[in-house]
This record gives sequence, C-alpha cells and structure tokens, in this order.
Amino acid sequence: MIEKKQEESPVDESGLNFVEQEIKADLEAGKNGGRLNTRFPPEPNGYLHIGHAKAFIMDFGAAEKFGGTCNLRFDDTNPQKEDTEYVEAIKRDIHWLGYDWGDRLYYASDYFPQLYDLAVRLIKEGKAYVDEQTSEEIAAQKGTPTVPGTASPYRDRPVEENLDLFERMNKGEMEEGSMVLRAKIDMASDNMHFRDPVMYRIIKTPHWRTGDKWKVYPMYDFAHGQSDYFEGVTHSICTLEFVPHRPLYEYFVKELADESYCPRQIEFNRLNLTYTVMSKRKLLQLVKEGLVNGWDDPRMPTLCGLRRRGYTPASIREFVKKIGYTRYEALNHIELLEHSVREDLNKHATRVSAVQNPVKLVLTNYPADKTEIMEMDSNPEDPEAGTHEMPFGRELWIEREDFMENPPKKFFRMSPDKEVRLKGAYIVKCTGVKKNADGEIEEIYAEVDFDTRSGLPGADRKVKGTLHWVAVPTAVKVEVRDYDRLFAVENPSAEEGDFRDLLNPDSLKVRETVYVEPWLAERAKTGDHYQFQRLGYYTVDPDSKDGHLVFNKTIGLRDTWVKIAQKNK
Ligand code: ATP
Ligand code: MG
Repeated sequence: MIEKKQEESPVDESGLNFVEQEIKADLEAGKNGGRLNTRFPPEPNGYLHIGHAKAFIMDFGAAEKFGGTCNLRFDDTNPQKEDTEYVEAIKRDIHWLGYDWGDRLYYASDYFPQLYDLAVRLIKEGKAYVDEQTSEEIAAQKGTPTVPGTASPYRDRPVEENLDLFERMNKGEMEEGSMVLRAKIDMASDNMHFRDPVMYRIIKTPHWRTGDKWKVYPMYDFAHGQSDYFEGVTHSICTLEFVPHRPLYEYFVKELADESYCPRQIEFNRLNLTYTVMSKRKLLQLVKEGLVNGWDDPRMPTLCGLRRRGYTPASIREFVKKIGYTRYEALNHIELLEHSVREDLNKHATRVSAVQNPVKLVLTNYPADKTEIMEMDSNPEDPEAGTHEMPFGRELWIEREDFMENPPKKFFRMSPDKEVRLKGAYIVKCTGVKKNADGEIEEIYAEVDFDTRSGLPGADRKVKGTLHWVAVPTAVKVEVRDYDRLFAVENPSAEEGDFRDLLNPDSLKVRETVYVEPWLAERAKTGDHYQFQRLGYYTVDPDSKDGHLVFNKTIGLRDTWVKIAQKNK
C-alpha cells in the first residue's frame, strides 16, 4: 500500500514547489530563449477528475506565475475510445476551475502528418521497421529488466520493404493487429521502453476529427514529445509513472530539436484519494454499468461530480495547494478535501433553517392565529450578509433527534420539563408528548416564555440548548440527498479482487420530506450553496424543478480532518 504522507510539501522561501523551482532555474539560465510554455494533455476518453485538476493547476498555474503560456492539447490518438462529449466536458471543467488556454487549443491529431513524415524518415535512416508478429509474440520477446530481449525476425527488413509496408498499413490494406511499426533501438537496454517500442498501430475506426484519412495511429511515446516540440512547449509536466518513459521522450525529441529549443519533461506525484478510485477506466465502468448516476454523480471524484455535490473551485484549488507536489507517491485523506470545502462554504454560504427528520412541536400557550416575523442572521461570518425574515407560530417542525423522553445526563436538547431556546425566537419548556398506537411520538408540547424573545431584554436568560425549527404553515417540503463514501474501504485500488465489490452500498440516502423556511424556497437556484443550521452545507441540485427543490448534502459541519492531522503529527 502507498505510504500516507500528509505533511505540507517542500516549497522554497518564495513558496515555489520543486517543479516551479526547476522552471525558474531554466528561465534564469535563458533556456529556450527564456520562454515558458506548458501544456495540459488530456485524452478525451473520459471526464476529468480531481487528480487531473492537480495536474492542470500545475500546468496553468506555473504559466501564470512566470508570465508564460499553457496549451490545452487533446491527446486524441486513439479513435476507438474518444468522443466529443468528453472534449466539451473537459473544456467546461477547466474553465470552471478558473483557467483558460486562450487561443492555444490544440489536438495531437493536428500533428499526424508531421508524425507520419518523421516515421518515414526514421525508416529511411534504418531506425524503424515493420514487425508482423502478434502483440503476444512481441511481449514475449521483451525480456525482463535483468534479461535482455530477443530481436524480432523482422528487425533487419530492408528499408524499401519497410517503407512499402508502412504505407500500405496506412492505406488500409492490412488488418488491425497484423503488423506494427517499431523503433529499432536496443533490445538489451536497461530501460524496457527502449526495447524497440511500438511507434504505430493499425486502427480502422474512423477518427472524430480526421475521419478515415489515417489507418495508422501513433502510440503515446511516439506522439507526446514530438507534439510538445511542434507546439513550442518548453516544460512538459506529468506524473511519476512517466519517469521511465523520459529517456524515450528525449530520444524522439532529439530527432527534431536543437540547442535553441528543446522541450523538457518533469514529473510529480499523482493524486490518490482515500475511499475513491482515480482510474478513468474504473470510473467509466461505474458510469456504464449504472453503479452511479452518471459522470456527474455527486459521489464521483470527477470535477463535474464535485461541482454538483457543492464543491467550489476555490476549495479544490486550496486542497491542491495544501497537498502540494512531491516526487513521492502518496495517498491523501479525503477528509482534507472535505475540510477545504467546509472552510470555504463557512465563509460564503447563507445560513437557513431546515428540518430533515421532522416532528411537530405545538406551543400550547401561543395563539393559533398569531404569526411573528423573526430576524435571522444570514451569515455571521460575513458582515455584509445581514439578516432575513422567518415566520414563527404555534406549530413548528423540529428534528426528531432533538427530543428525548428519558434523556441521559448530558442531553441539553428538548426533554420533558426542560427549557431550550428556539433559535432566533423564544425559550420554551416541554410539557408533554402525544404518541400514536405504536408508541411513536406524534407531537411534542411546550410552553413559551414570552419574556425571552430574541433581541429583547429577556433574551439574556441563558439555557444550554438551542434548536433550529421551521414554522409548519409556511414550511416548504424539499428533497435532500445525503451521501457517504463511494467505497467502503480506504484504498480500493490496493485491494485484491473486483473493485466493484468494494462499493459502499449505503452511499446515497434520499430524504423525501425535509422542511425548509419559505425564504430559502423562494430564492434557491441550481448550484447555490447554503448552510442548513446545525446540519451541514447543502447545494441545490440541477434535478430541481418548479415547486420541487432538490438539495445535495455537500458536507457536514463537524471537521473530521483536524483529528487526523493531529494523529499524523
Ligand atoms: P489514461 O491515460 O489511463 O487514460 P489518465 O488519467 O492518465 O488516464 P490523461 O487524459 O492521459 O488520463 O491525463 C491527462 C494528464 O493528467 C496527464 O498528464 C496525467 O499525468 C495527469 N493525471 C492523470 N491522473 C492524475 C492524478 N491522479 N493525479 C495527478 N495527475 C494526473
Ligand atoms: Mg494518461
């Protein structure tokens, strides 16, 4: 299992992480004419997740910091898996986090002609050959890190034959999988990626941009470095799994570059998060098999899922800043991400009253025909927020959990003969309950102390408990979706067996009958964030329709991160 590292990552005295320090050094040394150009290269075969956000915050962030530019380049080299739906979603999510590529939008498919020309040149120079073996045969000949590989019987094919076959591969004369173009490098290299890596394979599925123009498609290793070069990228920042690919990146780039300009690859640690998975393949499977309700299911680690759940761009950027960038693989606690959104919403979310598990409270000495308007603080953390009005009356909804008939000693909420304050209103004393035939409490009774109205002199009188409430006649019924961890285990990727068996069966709980104050119901719009007093932060879901509001619980109020952080010290 990956070691857990939660400490703040090393940054220098001016707050630069190690990648930024390298960039700064290159700029100061005048490399590439003192130019900085990064790129974010997603493959449009799925939606972006928070791990991708860590990557593009680095790419766009470093460019911003040093006055450089950052390209968005779609790595569209495999038409079998890619789709424009993903292209649009990826653009939307990058914009949402506050970054923009301006007019620097590129596609690896733009470079298919140049890549093809380079391949032809390498064939002519005796540096590439067409191999007719199956992928299994090629794999079997690879050897191991300590045992050299075996040369393919096609390795020394004459140049003319290679050129002819490669051309016919691209014309569609050959079957998929029947042959590949390989670089002729070194079957005994210490670096497995140098053992005659595949450069091109045959794919006959039409490409969404280039149609059926091409029948051969470049492999990642033959496309990425050169695409960087064609685009003028100076710093190609990626994750640690590409460290062993770097020599090959440099090998192909050297075929093009000179001293005046050469792109450079730098690697940092991926984001891994507890109780979820980051593999696009697995996320796609969850979506395709209906194990979640789409890419933007609020339980997903995708950016659209987090957005729907109620995560803010600022909270995600802050989280990424906190975990930082290192050269060591780590597993980060999801509680730190939750902590970040809690902190952000605490500053900005409007406070409202909502009762999620309602039971009726009747104030027996309060006139049935009377309504008072109470002033409620809209956000004590924000001096600009002011107050809003909330109707009060004889019948109120309160939380079932806020009443106990036979309470333990330290229960300071409502129980017979005890006083509590109704938030922003009066102190009341419980006088009894009514039960149904099954012994369930149907109504709770209490008497108001009229001298204790909030804002008036008697309000000074202190009682231990304060409860939230919503007046029955004006309450609006809404739906609330409560979420728990998507997976039941901390690190699903480290477990044996099928990852789907590790899903938490109780990750979604729908509450059909939650009562909210009328002021909220009038103003709530999709994407708005609120704090439901004493319950947590909630965000309006796009499923909301006229007359039927749906809220996602973004996160509870209790900070579970502090405890973990202390334990880790
Ligand atoms: P795959 O290549 O298997 O389809 P991927 O998640 O690597 O999946 P890409 O579209 O290639 O998908 O990713 C784009 C960029 O995002 C890459 O540079 C990659 O290094 C980076 N990236 C992907 N996952 C993470 C992660 N968990 N943490 C940080 N960066 C990531
Ligand atoms: Mg990738």
